Amino acid sequence: MEVARDEIREQVRALCQRFPGEYWREKDRARDYPGEFVAALTEGGWLACLVPEAYGGSGLGLAEATAILEEIHASGCNGAAAHAQIYTMGTILRHGSDPQKSKYLPEIAAGRLRLQAFGVTEPESGSDTLSLATRAVRDGDGYVINGAKVWTSRAEHSDLMLLLARTTPREEAKSRTEGLSVFLVDMAAAHGNGLEIRPIRTMINHATCAVYLDDLRVPAANLIGEEGQGFRYILDGMNAERILIAAECVGDGRWFTERAVTYAGERQVFGRPIGQNQGVQFPIARAYAEMRAAALMVEKAATLFDAGQPCGEEANMAKLLASEAAWAAGDTCMQTFGGYGFAEEMDVERKFRETRLYRTAPVSTNMILAYIAEHVLGLPRSY
Ligand SMILES: Cc1cc2nc3c(=O)[nH]c(=O)nc-3n(C[C@H](O)[C@H](O)[C@H](O)COP(=O)(O)OP(=O)(O)OC[C@H]3O[C@@H](n4cnc5c(N)ncnc54)[C@H](O)[C@@H]3O)c2cc1C
Repeated sequence: MEVARDEIREQVRALCQRFPGEYWREKDRARDYPGEFVAALTEGGWLACLVPEAYGGSGLGLAEATAILEEIHASGCNGAAAHAQIYTMGTILRHGSDPQKSKYLPEIAAGRLRLQAFGVTEPESGSDTLSLATRAVRDGDGYVINGAKVWTSRAEHSDLMLLLARTTPREEAKSRTEGLSVFLVDMAAAHGNGLEIRPIRTMINHATCAVYLDDLRVPAANLIGEEGQGFRYILDGMNAERILIAAECVGDGRWFTERAVTYAGERQVFGRPIGQNQGVQFPIARAYAEMRAAALMVEKAATLFDAGQPCGEEANMAKLLASEAAWAAGDTCMQTFGGYGFAEEMDVERKFRETRLYRTAPVSTNMILAYIAEHVLGLPRSY
């Protein structure tokens, strides 16, 4: 479907106006899931943007999805409560069987099924995904899964979870990257039957959890693609995730810059606006330039992704540059606001905390630099 990106931005902005700072502050204080905001995005069809029209979605490209998420963040809202509903289904779309696609994608597109939990990270293995220890063993018409995941965001707000587990012991696998498999876990069926979820309270309102798997039985029909090829499938989805999260960071960068400019123009100290001082205006100007440069890399990466071309380099660089630009813009905004930056009612400190996440998740800055060094520049592998 062809929809002009300006129109998308305008409509998303209008939706976001219904969720002002006060709404987010209350949710943040209570660490409460922003269910009303997610429902509004679902009703508007925004979370089904990447599902093909044949399965009931709007069949838009990643470039349009970046416009949606950027605008959410530029409006002062937070897409983290629902962003994974947009892209996690890509694993089913690209690697699922026809029956799996027909069963799940229309329900996901309609918002009746939420597939927005992604269980990869484990307490021990961390960034070293290939060392993950969660084990799935074939048993009759199913698999029995044991292990633990950490930082599984939205696990309590998902009907389905995409889970990465080892099906072949590492020493028996044909190659370093084989032996892991992807499963679709029905959360309602699993809850209390081998699956336990424990929320983790964090410095941001992110609904993230530890997930424990104790003899959890998953039907073989819920294996996505071929057994042992799961790592490859997950990597495929990671480029989309990185580009979309980079777009959120660009949105944050815009929000911080706009706030800083307005405040610097209004706040009078020593008888003149603080923004008249170069020491105040230059950091804002620099943050703006860095955000615009990151936005270009997001655009480039999304364009390559939509054209079906390799985009690992650009997706990683977009995530790196945008998360750094958002962080610099956030710090500059805090500094511009002086003491008032610390006041909850300004929303600056909340956004500042929220945007910090993206230097660590879904992949930390060092791992991106290691990717660029090794895979783009040809330097020796460092780990
Ligand atoms: C709020 C939140 C939500 C999250 N949501 C999800 C989710 O939904 N699903 C999911 O699977 N995961 C999720 N994550 C996990 C996130 O992806 C990881 O935290 C991140 O990938 C880093 O892994 P780690 O925390 O284990 O850090 P570690 O791997 O322990 O690394 C710690 C630090 O050391 C650095 N480091 C490690 N090894 C090297 C090396 N070889 N070279 C250079 N530096 C290195 C890292 O870059 C990092 O800075 C979330 C995390 C948070 C905090």
